[in-house]
Amino acid sequence: MRRPVTPFIRRACVVALCVISAATSAADLWLANARVIDGSGAPPTAARTVHVQDGKVVAISKASAPAGAIDLRGSYLLPGFIDAHTHIEDPASAERALRSGVTTTRVLGDAYLKALATRDLVRQGNTPGPEMLVSAGHVRPVLGEAFVLSFPQFGRYLHAPLTGADQVAEVVRAVIARGADVIKVGASERAGLASTDPRRPELSFEEISAAVREASAKGLFVAAHSHGTGGVNAAVRAGVRSIEHGTYADEATLQLMLQKGTFWVPTLAVMSPLGDPRGDKAEDIALQLRTYHMMKPLREGVRRAHALGIPVATGTDGTYGDGDATARIRIAHEIEELVKCGYTPLEAITAATATAARLLGVDARTGTIVPGKEADLLVVDRNPLEDTTTLFEPMMVVSNGDVVLNRIGL
Ligand SMILES: [Zn+2]
Repeated sequence: MRRPVTPFIRRACVVALCVISAATSAADLWLANARVIDGSGAPPTAARTVHVQDGKVVAISKASAPAGAIDLRGSYLLPGFIDAHTHIEDPASAERALRSGVTTTRVLGDAYLKALATRDLVRQGNTPGPEMLVSAGHVRPVLGEAFVLSFPQFGRYLHAPLTGADQVAEVVRAVIARGADVIKVGASERAGLASTDPRRPELSFEEISAAVREASAKGLFVAAHSHGTGGVNAAVRAGVRSIEHGTYADEATLQLMLQKGTFWVPTLAVMSPLGDPRGDKAEDIALQLRTYHMMKPLREGVRRAHALGIPVATGTDGTYGDGDATARIRIAHEIEELVKCGYTPLEAITAATATAARLLGVDARTGTIVPGKEADLLVVDRNPLEDTTTLFEPMMVVSNGDVVLNRIGL
């Protein structure tokens, strides 16, 4: 993401880059002695020098680095993670996500347009955070109070459902006009509430198709929240870019996803807190039973998607907030879940980098470590292909060439 140098970035530079000598300009960053996992799925290369200038990677070579380079001492350099499904809605959460290694995220859902405002603060350089693509709401039959208060022209839907392709199209146009980067639609009910049934469909094929038409007309993608077999199938047929969750996707739908190039963000890791056995309220127990029922088909579906070659991308479905049930989920959790479903660690890392970048349509500028792309980088000190737990402990995070976290040498 391109943004002006701001006071917080200058502070980060003073802390992190003060070692850079006069031999390199202030806009240069040299990382020496890196083992590079470039995000494309290629195996690591060793002893690399990475030169970053004006926020972009300009070279990856075996050349020796100039004085003042940051010596990574054989640590592993990866592309910054892409969290393709979050609910980051405030600056503190955005900063937490960035410091965890997430340099790009898609925010699907937005209460009171807080995510949209946070995105703008980050874009203006007023607060640190990943690049955020936000949906500015969740288009579904029951829009909910937060949506209606944000879009008061749709007050008629506070106590009445949104139904029919024309109504859906009108709402989607308004969300786009308000500044959304992506459209989120509800193809089936939610899983995280005891009062909903995730197998039950929400918007119909015709309604989702209308959303896809409106979004495509403005060059935007549609992400469909969907668990139930019918909802997932309708969304795929309607041409959404990605299925979010996809718990009960059947074989015919998976085949259709393969054929149409539909991405899948299974959000495996978020399901475990829903089933956290520590809860003892009636609602918690209902969610525990539901989770038990949902995890098996979800994991089987992801195994099948892996075998078929359906593009799967990482998403935590988390808030990166402070204290709520999903706040502590990290991309590393999702990578571990993918490994349990048969992905190699390298394939799971690719799901968090190159594949997720393609899903978001930002692959021309991030998602892999390639000359010309944004310097969105993550450093870990052990080989993540042998020990994925290292991905929970970033040593350094670089976003558009700015060092936003540096624990090297601590
Ligand atoms: Zn979500």
